[in-house]
Amino acid sequence: MSDCLFCKIVKRQIPAKVVHEDDKMIAIEDVNPQAPLHLLVIPKAHIATLNDLTGEHDALVGEMMRRAAAIARQHGYADRGFRTVFNTNRESGQTVFHIHLHLLAGRPMTWPPG
Ligand code: 5GP
Ligand code: ZN
Repeated sequence: MSDCLFCKIVKRQIPAKVVHEDDKMIAIEDVNPQAPLHLLVIPKAHIATLNDLTGEHDALVGEMMRRAAAIARQHGYADRGFRTVFNTNRESGQTVFHIHLHLLAGRPMTWPPG
Protein backbone atom coordinates (compact mmCIF):
# COMPACT_ATOMS: atom_id res chain seq x y z
CA MET A 1 0.00 0.00 0.00
CA SER A 2 2.05 2.91 -1.31
CA ASP A 3 -0.14 5.61 0.28
CA CYS A 4 -0.44 4.03 3.73
CA LEU A 5 1.22 5.95 6.58
CA PHE A 6 2.13 2.85 8.58
CA CYS A 7 3.44 0.98 5.52
CA LYS A 8 5.72 3.97 4.98
CA ILE A 9 6.84 3.90 8.62
CA VAL A 10 7.49 0.14 8.35
CA LYS A 11 9.66 0.79 5.24
CA ARG A 12 11.42 3.69 7.03
CA GLN A 13 10.18 6.15 4.41
CA ILE A 14 8.73 8.25 7.27
CA PRO A 15 10.69 8.55 10.54
CA ALA A 16 9.39 7.10 13.80
CA LYS A 17 10.82 6.20 17.19
CA VAL A 18 11.08 2.43 16.80
CA VAL A 19 11.29 0.52 20.08
CA HIS A 20 11.02 -3.00 18.64
CA GLU A 21 11.39 -4.66 15.25
CA ASP A 22 11.29 -8.25 14.10
CA ASP A 23 10.38 -9.98 10.85
CA LYS A 24 6.62 -9.57 11.40
CA MET A 25 6.08 -6.27 13.23
CA ILE A 26 7.45 -3.03 14.60
CA ALA A 27 6.55 -1.11 17.75
CA ILE A 28 6.80 2.69 17.70
CA GLU A 29 6.11 5.58 20.01
CA ASP A 30 2.78 7.28 19.25
CA VAL A 31 3.38 10.80 17.95
CA ASN A 32 0.50 12.13 20.11
CA PRO A 33 0.80 10.12 23.34
CA GLN A 34 -2.30 9.72 25.51
CA ALA A 35 -0.42 8.22 28.48
CA PRO A 36 3.16 8.27 29.80
CA LEU A 37 3.74 5.12 27.74
CA HIS A 38 1.85 5.04 24.43
CA LEU A 39 3.21 2.68 21.81
CA LEU A 40 1.76 1.22 18.63
CA VAL A 41 2.46 -2.39 17.66
CA ILE A 42 2.15 -2.51 13.87
CA PRO A 43 2.35 -5.59 11.63
CA LYS A 44 4.61 -5.24 8.61
CA ALA A 45 1.84 -6.69 6.43
CA HIS A 46 -0.83 -4.21 5.36
CA ILE A 47 -4.17 -5.20 6.93
CA ALA A 48 -6.67 -2.31 6.89
CA THR A 49 -8.92 -3.24 9.83
CA LEU A 50 -9.72 -6.15 12.11
CA ASN A 51 -12.57 -6.89 9.68
CA ASP A 52 -9.91 -7.97 7.18
CA LEU A 53 -8.29 -10.60 9.40
CA THR A 54 -8.37 -14.24 8.30
CA GLY A 55 -7.23 -17.41 10.00
CA GLU A 56 -3.83 -16.86 8.39
CA HIS A 57 -3.35 -13.89 10.71
CA ASP A 58 -4.08 -15.73 13.97
CA ALA A 59 -0.43 -16.30 14.86
CA LEU A 60 0.51 -12.74 13.89
CA VAL A 61 -2.15 -11.14 16.09
CA GLY A 62 -1.24 -13.45 18.95
CA GLU A 63 2.39 -12.39 18.64
CA MET A 64 1.36 -8.73 18.59
CA MET A 65 -0.53 -9.19 21.85
CA ARG A 66 2.38 -11.03 23.46
CA ARG A 67 4.82 -8.38 22.24
CA ALA A 68 2.71 -5.61 23.77
CA ALA A 69 2.64 -7.47 27.09
CA ALA A 70 6.40 -8.03 26.94
CA ILE A 71 7.06 -4.34 26.27
CA ALA A 72 4.71 -3.36 29.10
CA ARG A 73 6.64 -5.70 31.39
CA GLN A 74 9.97 -4.19 30.26
CA HIS A 75 8.65 -0.79 31.31
CA GLY A 76 7.50 -2.06 34.70
CA TYR A 77 3.77 -2.10 34.01
CA ALA A 78 3.04 -5.84 34.10
CA ASP A 79 1.59 -5.79 37.60
CA ARG A 80 0.53 -2.16 37.75
CA GLY A 81 -1.50 -2.54 34.58
CA PHE A 82 -1.78 -1.36 31.02
CA ARG A 83 -4.38 -1.04 28.30
CA THR A 84 -4.31 -2.57 24.81
CA VAL A 85 -6.69 -1.31 22.14
CA PHE A 86 -7.46 -1.96 18.48
CA ASN A 87 -9.80 0.66 17.03
CA THR A 88 -11.90 -0.45 14.08
CA ASN A 89 -13.60 1.96 11.67
CA ARG A 90 -15.27 5.28 12.22
CA GLU A 91 -17.18 5.05 15.48
CA SER A 92 -14.19 3.59 17.32
CA GLY A 93 -11.99 6.49 16.24
CA GLN A 94 -9.73 4.59 13.83
CA THR A 95 -7.80 7.12 11.77
CA VAL A 96 -5.00 5.03 10.24
CA PHE A 97 -6.31 2.11 8.21
CA HIS A 98 -3.45 -0.31 8.81
CA ILE A 99 -4.12 -2.27 11.98
CA HIS A 100 -2.16 -1.29 15.06
CA LEU A 101 -2.36 -2.28 18.68
CA HIS A 102 -2.24 0.66 21.08
CA LEU A 103 -0.30 -0.01 24.30
CA LEU A 104 -1.05 2.61 26.97
CA ALA A 105 0.28 2.68 30.51
CA GLY A 106 1.49 4.90 33.29
CA ARG A 107 -1.71 6.50 34.54
CA PRO A 108 -5.06 5.29 35.91
CA MET A 109 -7.57 4.71 33.13
CA THR A 110 -11.32 4.87 33.25
CA TRP A 111 -13.90 2.37 32.09
CA PRO A 112 -15.97 2.56 29.96
CA PRO A 113 -13.62 4.32 27.52
CA GLY A 114 -14.82 7.52 25.91
P1 5GP B 1 -6.15 5.15 15.55
O1 5GP B 1 -6.91 6.43 15.82
O2 5GP B 1 -6.17 4.82 14.06
O3 5GP B 1 -6.53 3.99 16.41
O4 5GP B 1 -4.66 5.46 15.96
C1 5GP B 1 -3.75 6.10 15.14
C2 5GP B 1 -2.62 6.56 16.01
O5 5GP B 1 -1.52 6.87 15.19
C3 5GP B 1 -2.96 7.82 16.81
O6 5GP B 1 -2.80 7.55 18.19
C4 5GP B 1 -1.97 8.85 16.28
O7 5GP B 1 -1.49 9.70 17.29
C5 5GP B 1 -0.88 7.99 15.71
N1 5GP B 1 -0.17 8.59 14.60
C6 5GP B 1 -0.72 9.25 13.54
N2 5GP B 1 0.23 9.65 12.70
C7 5GP B 1 1.41 9.24 13.22
C8 5GP B 1 2.77 9.35 12.78
O8 5GP B 1 3.09 9.91 11.73
N3 5GP B 1 3.73 8.81 13.59
C9 5GP B 1 3.40 8.16 14.75
N4 5GP B 1 4.43 7.66 15.46
N5 5GP B 1 2.14 8.03 15.19
C10 5GP B 1 1.16 8.55 14.42
ZN1 ZN C 1 -0.31 -0.19 5.39
